[in-house]
Amino acid sequence: MEFIREYADWFYLIGAVLFILTLRGLSGPKTAIAGNRYGMIAMAIAVLTTFFVADNPVIWMIVGAMVLGAVVGIARARTVPMTQMPETVALMHSLVGLAAVLIAIAAIIHNNKLVELGPDLLAANGVNFHEMSRVHLFELFVGCFVGAITFTASVFAYGKLAAKKWAKTISGAWVKPVQALIFIAMLAAGIHFFLTGNMTSFWAMTALALAFGWVWIAPVGGGDMPVVVSLLNSFSGWAAAGIGFTLENNMLIVAGSLVGSSGAILSYIMCKAMNRSIINVLFGGAMGGAAAPTAAAGAAVQRNYRSGSADDAGFLMSNADSVVIVPGYGMAQGRAQNAVKELANLLKEQGVTVRFAIHPVAGRMPGHMNVLLAEADVPYEDILEMDEINSDFPATDVVLVIGANDVVNPAAKDDPNSPIYGMPILEAHKARTIMVIKRSMATGYAGLDNDLFYNDKTMMIFGDAKKVVEDMTKAINGTGH
Ligand code: NDP
Repeated sequence: MEFIREYADWFYLIGAVLFILTLRGLSGPKTAIAGNRYGMIAMAIAVLTTFFVADNPVIWMIVGAMVLGAVVGIARARTVPMTQMPETVALMHSLVGLAAVLIAIAAIIHNNKLVELGPDLLAANGVNFHEMSRVHLFELFVGCFVGAITFTASVFAYGKLAAKKWAKTISGAWVKPVQALIFIAMLAAGIHFFLTGNMTSFWAMTALALAFGWVWIAPVGGGDMPVVVSLLNSFSGWAAAGIGFTLENNMLIVAGSLVGSSGAILSYIMCKAMNRSIINVLFGGAMGGAAAPTAAAGAAVQRNYRSGSADDAGFLMSNADSVVIVPGYGMAQGRAQNAVKELANLLKEQGVTVRFAIHPVAGRMPGHMNVLLAEADVPYEDILEMDEINSDFPATDVVLVIGANDVVNPAAKDDPNSPIYGMPILEAHKARTIMVIKRSMATGYAGLDNDLFYNDKTMMIFGDAKKVVEDMTKAINGTGH
C-alpha cells in the first residue's frame, strides 16, 4: 500500500505511456487489438493507483460506484448492436461532461467548508487558502463550463443519432443571436465567479453552459453530426483534464489531454474529408434536411430507374475483371459484412479483382466500415480509403454499392445548390457498371435524393443487404464460373 503511494507518479507515468501506445495501436486495424489491450492495462493501473493515493477514501462509495459502473458497462457492451454504437459513444461523452460538472460542484462545496474553518485553522494545517482558491477557481470555471456544454450537447447528439423525437434540429433567424447571448452571459458569469468566487455566478454559469450546449448543437445538420460527435469526444477529454487539475491527479490530466487532442485531430481530418470548416460545422447552422434515416422518405420520387435481380448481378460480377465494393450504413444495418466477405472470396476465386472502398463518414461513426470489415476478416490490403481508390473507378468494371447512399451522391460534386455540395464522395458514378443494393428508393441520412440511382449505368437490386448478397453468392455458385 505504502509502496504504491510512494511511487504513485511512476505508476501514472507507466499508465500515460501505455495510453500513448494505445492511441498509436488504434491508428491502424492491424495493431488495434494490441492498442485496446494497452488501454485496458493503462486504465487498470490508473484506477488502482488513484484508489491507493486517495486521502481518507470512503471505500464503500468508491467500490459501490465502480461495481455499478462495471455492471452497467458490461451489460451495455454485450447487448448494444453495432448500429447503435454512435449514440452509445455520444452518451458516454455526456457522462464525462456530467462528471466534470459534479466534481466542480463538489470541489466548491468542499472549498467553502474550508473557508468556514477560518484562516487560523487553515494556516495551522498548512493550507494557504488564497493561493489555492485563485488557481482552483480558474480550473473550476473552465472545467465546469466545458463539462456542462459537453453534457447537454452529447445528450442532444445521442437523441439525434437515436432518432428521438425530442432531439429536433432547430433553425431560424433567432438561433444565432440566442446562441451568442447565452454564450456571452455564460462567459460573464464565469469570469465574475473567477474574479470574486461568488457562488450565484457559479450556478448561473453552470446553468447557462448547460443551456448553451443544447442550443449550440441543436441547429447542426445531420451530415455534420460525425464531426460533432468527434468534437464532443475531444471536449470530454478537455473536461477530464480540467477535473485532473482540480483533483491534482496527473494521470487524469495526461489521459484527458490525450483524448482532447486526438479528438480535435480526428475532427479536423473529418472536416477535411467533408470539405467543411470546423467553424462552419459548429456555427453554420443546418447543413441539410438532416432527417434521421427512414425507409419511407424518398419513396414518392417519380423518376425512372432500372432494377435487376441478384442472379443478374451475380452473373455480371463473375464475368468482370474488377469489382469495387462500396459499403455504407445499410451494410451495418443489415449485418451483411460476413455475407459480403463470402461473396468477395468467391469472386476472387473466380479470378476477379475485388477491393473495398471506404468513405471516412460512411455508416454512423468514424471507422464504422473498417470495424465491420475487420470483424468479417476482410484482408486489410483489400480495403482502400477514398483518396486511394477514387482514380480507379473509371477503369472498374463493376462497382457494388451495399447500403451506401450519401457517400456516393454525385450531387456533392455536380450540384452547387445541394446541401452536401463540396463534400468529397466515392466516385462510383464513374465505374462502367453500377449496382446498388438497398431496400427501396428511400433517401439516406442527409435526406437527399441520389442521381446515382437513376444513372443509365445503374442497376438497383432491392432487398435487405444480407439476403441480396447471399442470393448473389448462390447465383454465382450456381453458374459455375
Ligand atoms: P446513408 O445513411 O446515406 O444511406 C444508407 C442507405 O442504406 C439508405 O439509403 C438505406 O436505404 C440503406 N439501407 C438501410 N438499411 C438497409 C438494409 N438492411 N439493407 C440494405 N440497405 C439498407 O449511408 P452512407 O453510409 O452512405 O452515409 C453515411 C451518412 O451518415 C452520411 O450522411 C454521414 O454524414 C452520416 N453520419 C455519419 C456518421 C459517421 O461518423 N460515419 C455519424 C452520423 C451520421 P433503404 O432504406 O432504401 O434500404
